[in-house]
Amino acid sequence: MIEQTFILSPEQAKEMEQTYRVVRRSVDARQRKLHVLLSLLCDEHGKLVARDAAIPLYDPPCFKDVHQTTQGEVMIVGMGPAGLFAALRLLEAGYKPILIERGKAISNRKQDIARLNRNEGMDTESNYCFGEGGAGTFSDGKLFSRSKKRGQMQRVMEWFHYFGADDTVLYETHAHIGSDRLPAIIRSMRERIIDCGGEVHFSTILDGALWNELNKKRVPTILAIGHSAHDTYRMLNREGVQMSAKGTAMGVRVEHPQQLIDRLMYHLRDASEEEVERMAELVGHASYSLVTQVKKSPSDAATRGVYSFCMCPGGHIVPAGTEQNGCVVNGMSNSQRNSPYANSGIVVSLQPSDYAPYAKEGALSGLYFQEELEHSAASHGRLPNVAPAQRLTDFVNGKSSADLPSCSYLPGIVPSRLDAWLPEPIGSSLRQGFRDFGRKYAGYLSSEAVVVGVESRSSSPVRIERDSETMQSVSHPWLYPAGEGAGYAGGITSSALDGIRAAEAIISSR
Ligand SMILES: Cc1cc2nc3c(=O)[nH]c(=O)nc-3n(C[C@H](O)[C@H](O)[C@H](O)COP(=O)(O)OP(=O)(O)OC[C@H]3O[C@@H](n4cnc5c(N)ncnc54)[C@H](O)[C@@H]3O)c2cc1C
Repeated sequence: MIEQTFILSPEQAKEMEQTYRVVRRSVDARQRKLHVLLSLLCDEHGKLVARDAAIPLYDPPCFKDVHQTTQGEVMIVGMGPAGLFAALRLLEAGYKPILIERGKAISNRKQDIARLNRNEGMDTESNYCFGEGGAGTFSDGKLFSRSKKRGQMQRVMEWFHYFGADDTVLYETHAHIGSDRLPAIIRSMRERIIDCGGEVHFSTILDGALWNELNKKRVPTILAIGHSAHDTYRMLNREGVQMSAKGTAMGVRVEHPQQLIDRLMYHLRDASEEEVERMAELVGHASYSLVTQVKKSPSDAATRGVYSFCMCPGGHIVPAGTEQNGCVVNGMSNSQRNSPYANSGIVVSLQPSDYAPYAKEGALSGLYFQEELEHSAASHGRLPNVAPAQRLTDFVNGKSSADLPSCSYLPGIVPSRLDAWLPEPIGSSLRQGFRDFGRKYAGYLSSEAVVVGVESRSSSPVRIERDSETMQSVSHPWLYPAGEGAGYAGGITSSALDGIRAAEAIISSR
């Protein structure tokens, strides 16, 4: 089969998309006039294939029955994208995965998340980060990665589709599932793992006692704990698992009215509300990706990066911490992306040298830096989960906000001088970064926008050292650190890919 690519107006693209089989789709909003790049499938005569033609979208995966397998068992700690995709890959190869997950199954987890959103407190084992599906379940569900391994990426998309995601995940350059759809997909992955003979144990934590047991048995174990399990990092550090401090990025989440972002990104500054809405209906609400380099200090030529992270059009800001006394925010959206808000993390890149005040903590110094920031945010908000916030213009100009604009963050926000208490280098870098973004997009620096603190968990500040080929921990060869918590992946797709790689490393070692 061949494909043909068209550069189309949003209206033309919509029509073609409804008629023909799409292979790839992306929106190009760089010019004043928006274009959609659409690649369509053709048959051997060069004729476009109808959308509902009886041609399979891909070869369905084949997960083996492992009830009686002789291939062996593999332990998997953590049921986020890394753990789940590792389990599915092991099933393909006939191995029995045994998954343990500290959090609860999705149906119970949903109730804990509802309580969190009502500001009724946090269950430290069941929240936006811990529980079935990991941090990926109630996330925005954006499925893109910088990985160059197209074949492997395609496999991740196909498996998401196979377990219930829309066709768009197979062809959108910026594919997106949404928090309303992800839970059902994750649940059907779990049901398949169990049907095939794998095991799933909720409310089961890898603690010191279980660690000792595993260390004696040396069963191959994929460690896919995500980046929020601070207690587990501490336990592994005590047990001598080799780790190092790693660079990450921390900052705030900023929220604008979605209409404002649509106007800026789609070059519709003076258009009527109806025109803006119509464009959003045709191509979806606008997102943005911003990056700048700011000076480390006025007298220093060295720079550091400030960039947008996990931008959620039509989304919500959510409480994404795991501690009672810490305040952490992140963003999510539903499949329709239909809230009136556009939020994004704006983060400052940090190196291990920035964790210097905690240098005595060695590999965990970044964790201490992060915790200090989260506790500070909680002390400027209101427990349990009301977050500190400031109008964006006040943040940049160093003024307090007498009041705050409406915000999607359900537990609530209170005015706070984030510009004054955010530690260096975060506060000053963010101010410079926001000014740069305002110069690039006039209107971005708006008093209708609000900055909410803190976005502290964009990636892990710890790396669990592993051999690059065998993927085994350099100190404990039976252990395969994988996914975001190991420090080798970031985001749903790359964590899923890393889980698959860990499974393949075990398969090829047998
Ligand atoms: C609100 C929110 C929105 C996000 N939106 C996006 C997005 O749109 N796109 C994107 O690509 N990424 C997004 N992310 C990030 C993404 O969810 C993570 O990068 C991804 O889930 C990491 O996968 P993982 O499997 O490595 O770890 P996780 O998903 O964090 O899973 C780790 C699991 O291990 C469990 N665990 C931890 N310690 C133990 C232990 N000791 N014993 C047993 N179990 C343990 C945890 O409970 C958890 O379920 C978002 C994250 C959040 C919080």
